[in-house]
Amino acid sequence: MTDLTNLGVREIRDGIANGEFTAREVASQFNAAVEAAAALNTFIVTTPEKALEAADATDAARAAGKPLGRMGGVPIGMKDLFCTHGTQTTAASHILEGFVPQYESTVSANLWNAGAGMLGKLNLDQFAMGSSNETSFFGPAKSPWRKEGSNMALTAGGSSGGSSSAVAARLCPAATGTDTGGSIRQPAAVTGIVGIKPTYGRCSRWGVVAFASSLDQAGPMARSVEDCAIMLGAMAGYDPKDSTSLDMPVPDWEAALDADLKGKKVGIPREYRMEGTPQDILDSWKQGEEWLKDAGAEIVEISLPHTKYALPAYYIIAPAEASSNLARYDGVRYGLRDLPEGSGLQDMYAATRADGFGDEVKRRILIGTYVLSAGFYDAYYTQAQKIRTLVAQDFEKAWGECDVILAPTTPNAAFGLGEMQSDPLAMYLNDVFAVPASLAGLPAMSVPAGLNSDGLPLGLQIVGKPFDEQGVLNAGLAIERRASFEEKPEKWW
Ligand code: GLN
Repeated sequence: MTDLTNLGVREIRDGIANGEFTAREVASQFNAAVEAAAALNTFIVTTPEKALEAADATDAARAAGKPLGRMGGVPIGMKDLFCTHGTQTTAASHILEGFVPQYESTVSANLWNAGAGMLGKLNLDQFAMGSSNETSFFGPAKSPWRKEGSNMALTAGGSSGGSSSAVAARLCPAATGTDTGGSIRQPAAVTGIVGIKPTYGRCSRWGVVAFASSLDQAGPMARSVEDCAIMLGAMAGYDPKDSTSLDMPVPDWEAALDADLKGKKVGIPREYRMEGTPQDILDSWKQGEEWLKDAGAEIVEISLPHTKYALPAYYIIAPAEASSNLARYDGVRYGLRDLPEGSGLQDMYAATRADGFGDEVKRRILIGTYVLSAGFYDAYYTQAQKIRTLVAQDFEKAWGECDVILAPTTPNAAFGLGEMQSDPLAMYLNDVFAVPASLAGLPAMSVPAGLNSDGLPLGLQIVGKPFDEQGVLNAGLAIERRASFEEKPEKWW
């Protein structure tokens, strides 16, 4: 039997439709790969039976001559931030351990309706707060990649680090991610895969554990631009249950993929050339420019003058929203309850939250509560919101001069687990290139650009106009064709 775990979403879907192999064969092979990869710590819970059940449904539909879905027979990993009916959903936090939702998130439901199956729930930073997966209560997912000549454990990025590691290690052809301030793009970049955060509102937030509601957005992570286009098409769509959901038709991104960029302008933001950015990142950015030129695009320099204020504004707005969203974890309604002997209601709230939330989550709740408090609200929260508007206006002006923007995804390749943990500010700096597009709600993607001199993947980021996922995907495709990134991590797990 050939190894089907190297195949991507389209290859699996089409192979099943054409009768080259069955969905059950595919699911069985991925189930086995997942089981053999415990050392990567990518899954919090595995659900091999669910993957097989969905596969059997696809095989039965095919046998009956019924049409197969856009993701027909494709087993995927589900970030453990999406509520899944009957399967524990933790957001990688102790406070949600044992929480089994009685409902299904809209995005996961859309994927199952499109014929996908679930291999399990993927590890992440606790409540999606982090850039390395190290804030997970269940321990960090590890990257399948290693530096040349070293066996140091590296981060798979965060917060969607279980998703990126699993896709890069061929434990699943694709996985869901969520991106509040870079959590799809950054992990995709450091593991050599593709990830796209669509326009805010494209994918429903209903049933996704909330971090910062005005920023949270779901998206696909896979190994090719085409696979991301397919999966995004299955995830997206208007949902009356999410008041910020976009009431717009979902274009057929897959069908309209086109790597010819003739007549397109690509903006290079001057302010992203930050002091201290390593040479390999700058080189790969320059290379990206050349590739896009080769695809027919014209390169123009643009200015996004408020870039340097974006990160501090994000780290006020996101914690502020988090402190409000996380107030619901009180020991009464979900998961953990700590009720010390002889104690009352207040003591239970305090004990549950003290025990249930990790340090980074507590830090964010404290920061968020502080910036929202009466005496400081105007100085911090209002100010940050004004900056958010200015950042969004920078992009609006830029769209007068270009169609998409090219930038690095991250300021460095994967770092070692433990290397940055003691310095939260250094960790926050990982998001410096990712956060502006999040504040502006714009579609943005990371595509692999090659390996650095340590043999580690680097990503390039493409940011697009609101609702123009197609423009982003097409520019990504043009890079993908030229980067020809085929390297795989060497198996050690
Ligand atoms: N790393 C960023 C943070 O910790 C972004 C996380 C995310 O996008 N979920 O807030």
